[in-house]
Amino acid sequence: MKSNIESLKAIKAYIPPTEFYRVELPVMPSIRGNGWRDGGLCPFHNDKHKGSFRVNLETGAFVCFSCGSKGGDIIAFIQQRDGLSFPEALNKLTNEWGL
Ligand SMILES: [Zn+2]
Repeated sequence: MKSNIESLKAIKAYIPPTEFYRVELPVMPSIRGNGWRDGGLCPFHNDKHKGSFRVNLETGAFVCFSCGSKGGDIIAFIQQRDGLSFPEALNKLTNEWGL
């Protein structure tokens, strides 16, 4: 059983935000470049209009200008979307990505 710190390091090292969001945001427009990009539809509210949800493909940060959801990395994304605690989100990511 890895410690939370070890899991966090592994996740940051082995799950690039670009790959993560390509899987988690199927309607995200095709990716070019880095930094803040259009994330497609916001997963945190009943979003019908593209354009208000942004993800940062370098840091994993995300923000929705419509519902106000935001976070600093992909762990925060999983926590908020799935209603998980920090350790639960780490477990989910390490399991799903085979770390
Ligand atoms: Zn939203």
